[in-house]
Amino acid sequence: MWAGALLACGGLWWAKRRLRKQGAVVVLTFHRLLDEDDYGQCTSLRSIVMRRRTFESLVSYVARRYEAVDLLEAFAAPSSGRLRIAFTFDDGWRDAWRACVPLAERWGIPCTFFVCPGLTGQQWPFWPEKVIAARRAAGVSGDDPSTEAVIEQMKRQSPEEIEEWLREYWGSGQPGEGQGPANASWRELRDMGEARMRLGCHSATHQILTNVPVDLARSEVAGGRRQVEEASGRPCEVFSYPNGDWNPAVRELVGEAGYRFAFTTRQGAWTEESDRLTIPRMNACESHVGFWRGSFSPILFDYAFLWKAWRAMAAQPERAAAGAE
Ligand SMILES: [Zn+2]
Repeated sequence: MWAGALLACGGLWWAKRRLRKQGAVVVLTFHRLLDEDDYGQCTSLRSIVMRRRTFESLVSYVARRYEAVDLLEAFAAPSSGRLRIAFTFDDGWRDAWRACVPLAERWGIPCTFFVCPGLTGQQWPFWPEKVIAARRAAGVSGDDPSTEAVIEQMKRQSPEEIEEWLREYWGSGQPGEGQGPANASWRELRDMGEARMRLGCHSATHQILTNVPVDLARSEVAGGRRQVEEASGRPCEVFSYPNGDWNPAVRELVGEAGYRFAFTTRQGAWTEESDRLTIPRMNACESHVGFWRGSFSPILFDYAFLWKAWRAMAAQPERAAAGAE
């Protein structure tokens, strides 16, 4: 184990050096940030949650050790010589917004929130949380290994089929109705103090764009952008694909809608040579960087995001925008 750790440290040093020399930006993706109590009872998949305490330590580590950059200015300003990291959040969760804004302000860290303008301010905005809550009410733990498989399988179904499932299992009498997880409202999203928060679009209502007819995909992508701009009063120039799913037709819609950059969930690092509409990111959740109740590990951070981003980049030199994830 120690030999492995030492080996990893040498490898880490090398990976960070190579990323820096290539002028790469490692883009992190977060979703939800939860207090201890909420973390224990959370109805989201573990892959999208992090303890708020862990995130606080992560931000202070990045602020002291690396250079946090805004997505639109990532390559515009001369680099400080430190490895560049960008913070992004998908879905527009209220818990993440509330936890992130004061930290972003305090540490001067730019962050981008990719929101779904058709779902802002909503309770239970996404169906996977309803699936987990309904299964929990039926006695299946949220951490049961079958949960992720059920949700992955449902992602391949049409919006109508998912609606049908919800009508059957998520009636008005479900426990938690009227409370539970929620997205930030526009009133909250407009209130960012001195924090450098950028709003991007994550489609209008989080449809998996490769699964829906092209007209619907277009209104999710282009209509979503207009809605974010109207509600926020600011330009919306960045997009992230719901579930990371794209294909050449969907990528074209994103280009037509006028976005400058679009982000996937494919692992890797972003360089000036990357396709600007399929930029890789590194998903960040508690299990990547926390080892005990909100204890943040810098070594795990470097391994999970920097080493793995470098590995993915080295293994898969920039592809032309040729296909799906
Ligand atoms: Zn999402």
